[in-house]
Amino acid sequence: MAENIANVAGVDVSTDHWIDGRRVPSPRRFADVSPVDGSHLADVAAGGKAEVGQAVAAARKAFPGWAALGPKGRLPILKRFADGLKARAAELAAVETMDNGSLLLGNVHRVIPRAAQNIEFFADWALTLDGHSIDSPEVVNHVKYDPAGVAALITPWNAPLMLTTWKVGPALAAGNTVVVKPPEWAPLTCSLMADIAHAAGVPAGVLNVVQGIGEEAGNALVNHPDVDRISFTGSTDTAKIIGQAAARSITPMSAELGGKSPFIVCADADLDAAAQTVAAQYMNAGQVCLAGTRVMVEKSIEDGFLAKVRDAASHMVVGDPRDKDTRVGPLITKEHFDRVAGFVERAKADGAVPLWGGSRANFGDLYFEPTLFANVSPSLEIAQREVFGPVLTWQSFTSDDEAIELANNTRYGLAATLFSGNETRATKMASQVVAGTVWVNCFFVRDLAAPFGGSRDSGIGREGGAWSFDFYADIKNISVRK
Ligand code: NAD
Repeated sequence: MAENIANVAGVDVSTDHWIDGRRVPSPRRFADVSPVDGSHLADVAAGGKAEVGQAVAAARKAFPGWAALGPKGRLPILKRFADGLKARAAELAAVETMDNGSLLLGNVHRVIPRAAQNIEFFADWALTLDGHSIDSPEVVNHVKYDPAGVAALITPWNAPLMLTTWKVGPALAAGNTVVVKPPEWAPLTCSLMADIAHAAGVPAGVLNVVQGIGEEAGNALVNHPDVDRISFTGSTDTAKIIGQAAARSITPMSAELGGKSPFIVCADADLDAAAQTVAAQYMNAGQVCLAGTRVMVEKSIEDGFLAKVRDAASHMVVGDPRDKDTRVGPLITKEHFDRVAGFVERAKADGAVPLWGGSRANFGDLYFEPTLFANVSPSLEIAQREVFGPVLTWQSFTSDDEAIELANNTRYGLAATLFSGNETRATKMASQVVAGTVWVNCFFVRDLAAPFGGSRDSGIGREGGAWSFDFYADIKNISVRK
């Protein structure tokens, strides 16, 4: 059967699965619609138990050969893989923007280059894994990072290629083989990733991509008995379902989940920089897990700071994400738009007051105005639940203790942002916030060597640098008598 190809943004993309080094078509398909303009992009293969079974079997078969190469043998292949991503960065960026509505300029300059870095960084790091030993009186303990086996990798639509390579990079570098289940709302760049890996010489079966709906393809993957690791990025609700499957088979699971992160602004901060950074939370229509959506401002500067944020937010142009002036693109689907609008309507009914925004933007069906709610009591739904849209809340505090109490007053603990000109104060507050990452006087800076993950409902475990390998490897101690 001929391969099914969609042309998106001038790029040919296969809409079939990628299993055991070849394209596998499917009679069942799902529609992939662009949030940018509502255009129909592709009919994508809808996999289920059978395709997942084929992919896991292919990954299992390829595992011994890939593992036997060792980090040095895998390095040149993974470097070529990264180079392939770089060489096709403009195409990947254009396809990603049409598929999920993310800003084209951001994809070109940051997101797609980061996908390539994810592959090369972890390939390099893997060279340093073995060789560590611990001397004790009777024995020497040699610590070895054995590949774990077949890793199931499941990712969401808001940054599919970047989030998938963040898992593929360390999983492959550690010597595992992988089965990727891309997000059904933005499945295309992961398909291109398979072509690029293949062209780079990644052997058949080492990287497999099964397209499909989460409840079907994803569910079959996490319940497959021959999977050794489950790495999931997505919502907390889905993680609870996947966690049950992982628990049944005692499969180690890493989960990077949602957030409702605080953004604390102290009176002694650089208020212009803080205001610009608050407004930046509207980027990509707020569909950013790390967004600091609960703004908390020291009472003494509240009015002046609000004026600065209002000015900065007025430059957050809503529009087509391909336009270089756009800062706020579309929400991903009608279903998600209705979800965001529902949060906003309930917040109004709860007595929260929109200082700006609060409605559909005057651009297209899926575009929502940047919105700021004041008069938000900490227990309101709008202050507690992740909206995943361009919606911020505004609260004030009069003491650092109160700021920390407000900040820690949700079930989440993904990230926090803190602006203060006083290092001692900032360090103390940063240590008191419950969050996997705290940014002080900055936002969204992520070193691949640093730990990343969430506390509480925001996740299980940490990835990044050595932490990724702690997850993707079976760590062995070889204890040799002296
Ligand atoms: P989601 O949980 O609905 O879906 C994520 C992935 O899981 C998709 O590929 C989906 O097909 C799959 N899936 C759904 N049900 C499944 C099941 N029963 N079994 C197996 N797989 C299943 O999340 P979403 O709406 O795509 O993404 C938005 C969420 O992701 C937000 O909560 C956001 O904060 C979070 N997120 C977190 C991070 C992070 O690094 N912490 C990064 C990006 C997004």
